[in-house]
Amino acid sequence: MSKDTLMSTYGRLPVTFVRGEGAWLWDTEGQKYLDAFSGVAVCNLGHAHPVVSQAICDQAQQLVHTSNWYGIANQKKLADELIRLSGMDNAFFCNSGAEANETAIKIARLYGHKKKINDPVIIVTENSFHGRTLATLSATGNRKVQAGFEPLVKGFIRVPFNDLDALNTLAENNKNIIAILVEPVQGEGGINIPDEDYLSAVRKLCDQNEWLMMLDEVQTGMCRTGKWFAFQHDDYKPDVMPLAKALANGVPIGACLARGVAADILQPGNHGSTYGGNPLATSAAIATIQVMEENKLADKALALGQKMLGAFHTALDNEPHVKEIRGKGLMLAIELDCPCFELVAKALEQKLLINVTAERVIRLLPPLTISDSEADMIIDQVVSLIKNYLSDIAPA
Ligand SMILES: *Cc1c(COP(=O)(O)O)cnc(C)c1O
Repeated sequence: MSKDTLMSTYGRLPVTFVRGEGAWLWDTEGQKYLDAFSGVAVCNLGHAHPVVSQAICDQAQQLVHTSNWYGIANQKKLADELIRLSGMDNAFFCNSGAEANETAIKIARLYGHKKKINDPVIIVTENSFHGRTLATLSATGNRKVQAGFEPLVKGFIRVPFNDLDALNTLAENNKNIIAILVEPVQGEGGINIPDEDYLSAVRKLCDQNEWLMMLDEVQTGMCRTGKWFAFQHDDYKPDVMPLAKALANGVPIGACLARGVAADILQPGNHGSTYGGNPLATSAAIATIQVMEENKLADKALALGQKMLGAFHTALDNEPHVKEIRGKGLMLAIELDCPCFELVAKALEQKLLINVTAERVIRLLPPLTISDSEADMIIDQVVSLIKNYLSDIAPA
């Protein structure tokens, strides 16, 4: 690998992929791998999905980029689709999850200033992840992401995730709060699923205090958890919803959806993006949505996720070092009571792509299109990897 010409921002695994199809990838040696990670919940339709690839080819031959100074038909169409599916009011398009969150943060601050709050504060949570730009790493609840980049962006106040008392205390004591930014399920933080009533209680608190509820669905959105968007498991809507990752199945795009008062905050000159929502990226997103809808992938993710979760429980519940098995749709986690980063390399040797996050959480984010037999292969391989690993570190 050309280590010298690439900044060493990633501890890369020793493999390079050249081709993909569905849940499968092939490396430079022609070896085949089963993908249970989807490029971090991006390729929800699997690799090189023919409908998306065709849309990209067709659009590339017609028009790749113009500018947001002109109308972009695909962008309007994509906004209409996202609004129809989410019940939000409008959308701003950018190129990544961090930018989608930056948009949310800017909406919140402008909203605060409109309410004559000169030092607006946004509530964020511990173990959250919102991106790598300065504002979004400041919002992120992980010291590793922030260390060395101080001074951090001000205007964030942190509370434990899933802690309503902490929010109630802030509501009573801090009049500068204008919004909360929270993931419906914390992804990078370890697939942390809040109590069933947490998010609807956050919604109520936001209503009572005129805070914007900003739900970072960058990882959970686009059918991953078994609904189009994770909030749809419950009976509420956020005011602001950043999206990215799976939105165009791998073509870079981000979006910030807004509703009600939040939808009218940004005005000409407030915000922008040169590439944001260009004809190429939006054509891929439209095709992605079409495939998800035609194949009812939200329902499929819900059912298959439940099945996989059940299989992991059956196989691993009696393992003493398995702390918890949890998931929502096809966002699955097996938490051990010990660090297990090594499992990623061990899985790779067996031609399986998995992820470990938060040090001890095995995170599985397979394509939503996987077949039952592919799901079984993932289950069998992951179970035996974990059993072997645990017997190695803690011989009976
Ligand atoms: C991945 C992720 C981001 C950052 O997205 P980028 O496209 O890498 O900027 C933000 N929020 C959440 C919840 C994510 O999972």
